[in-house]
Amino acid sequence: MNQPKQIVLIGAGIMSATMGVFLRHLMPDANIKIYERLDRVGAESSDAWNNAGTGHAAYCELNYTPLRKDGSVDISKALHISEAFEQSKQFWAHLVQKEWIQMKHLFINDIPHMSFVMGESNVDFLKKRYEAMVQYPLFEDLAFEEDHQAIREQIPLLMNGRPATDVLASTRMDLGTDVNFGSITRAMMAYLEGDDQIELHLGQEVKDLTNTREGWLVEVKDVDTGYQNTVVADFVFIGAGGGAIPLLELTELEEGRGYGGFPVSGQWLRCTNQEVVLQHEAKVYGKAATGNPPMSVPHLDTRRMNGERSLLFGPYAGFSTKFLKEGSLFDLPFSIEMHNIWPMLSAGMHNIELTKYLVNQVIQSPEERFGFLQQYYPEARFEDWELLIAGQRVQIIKKDKDKGGVLKFGTEIVSAPDGSLAALLGASPGASTAVSIMLDTLKQCFPDLWKSDGWQSTIKEMIPTFGQSLKTDRQLVKQTRAETTKILQLT
Ligand SMILES: Cc1cc2nc3c(=O)[nH]c(=O)nc-3n(C[C@H](O)[C@H](O)[C@H](O)COP(=O)(O)OP(=O)(O)OC[C@H]3O[C@@H](n4cnc5c(N)ncnc54)[C@H](O)[C@@H]3O)c2cc1C
Repeated sequence: MNQPKQIVLIGAGIMSATMGVFLRHLMPDANIKIYERLDRVGAESSDAWNNAGTGHAAYCELNYTPLRKDGSVDISKALHISEAFEQSKQFWAHLVQKEWIQMKHLFINDIPHMSFVMGESNVDFLKKRYEAMVQYPLFEDLAFEEDHQAIREQIPLLMNGRPATDVLASTRMDLGTDVNFGSITRAMMAYLEGDDQIELHLGQEVKDLTNTREGWLVEVKDVDTGYQNTVVADFVFIGAGGGAIPLLELTELEEGRGYGGFPVSGQWLRCTNQEVVLQHEAKVYGKAATGNPPMSVPHLDTRRMNGERSLLFGPYAGFSTKFLKEGSLFDLPFSIEMHNIWPMLSAGMHNIELTKYLVNQVIQSPEERFGFLQQYYPEARFEDWELLIAGQRVQIIKKDKDKGGVLKFGTEIVSAPDGSLAALLGASPGASTAVSIMLDTLKQCFPDLWKSDGWQSTIKEMIPTFGQSLKTDRQLVKQTRAETTKILQLT
């Protein structure tokens, strides 16, 4: 498609903010309107306490490295995610270096990323994973440990009160990060708002999208007054998080048919005892029980927000029919249409384990929830923890010719054949890889402009390793990490 002149971004989360920054520099002549239904920026999944803030780089998340049938560990997804996170760091470093955003926002902090497993087969898996990963430059600093005392020195909360006979192991990567995605989103939006050609409209909900010869008619309603307004856009990006599926349905695009959404709400336990908080300094990820979904991976997690340190454990799943934390209970029922009812039913029938997991999560008592924490932190005290509601994830259900419908845990970009609209569905690996997801979206929608020298050099300026592979180039990994570490004030 040609260079658009009128652009609409729906949603003011990290995805639209990242897209906005790219478009501001790739299409400097375009007018961009951003519509957000809430009265503030980055307040849904991108907000700090609504997600775990893990800079997903595949150092500690065991679900990114599945075991193959032959017993070996597949690390291809881990390499992909880790490389994508390096791109995000370069992009953020570019924003800081150009002084488009300020480091005073303290949006990224060092925190070691560790995996922690119990039992012989899990230890065996972790060792194989470590051996497969450590050969690659992105993971060469990963350390494996089986010795109780050595692990206790690093993560006493997980080790104290545990029998010396327990078989367990950990890996550790000191390069891990905790990211305040809400903060970086607000910083990027503030930067965009400073441009005369960019308008941010808060409290404005997109209600309809119609494809016409003139372009997309975007119908917007003022949440307070009910006043309706229609704008025309020649490119629309639906970065509406959980709200993307209903909007995609409104487009009536053939490419969007057969998609449905399954909401899973999240909960954390947050530690209220500062003495305990200060005894833990890592993001420690365990292993999801067999049959449990990837988003159930338990983690005891140091968070650093606005200079304050805190500790969370979770996630626990809840069930709500809302697609957004501040959404409507009718979101799920209203999203069911003729085109997705069979895929949704089929996906349900093929995911009985997930249904069982969710039912068990929803009916568990506070004591049972606390019992799960004690599997990781044996000496935890009930009175030191409070329950928090996290953000809402909407898992993608997709039509499948063999199974009728499948549940997908990743992210998917659905676009119009002429590239005039793109919708981002799904929430994993999420905000950490926003930069590479937005690059994929731009490539998919604007294949000719993508190849142009102008675009290639602008992107390369923002992401110096763009077009090169970090998977095998040791020198390049060292160089980019040295740069981003310095600019982002990591250690
Ligand atoms: C429990 C949980 C833990 C997570 N942990 C991590 C993690 O550790 N690391 C990580 O990288 N990622 C994590 N994620 C994923 C990450 O939070 C998301 O991928 C990311 O925030 C999505 O950004 P977004 O901009 O697409 O969506 P959001 O931040 O949800 O923004 C979408 C915006 O669109 C608005 N909107 C919706 N519909 C409309 C409409 N019709 N009109 C106008 N505005 C609309 C919403 O109000 C919202 O502000 C986690 C997510 C959850 C739920």
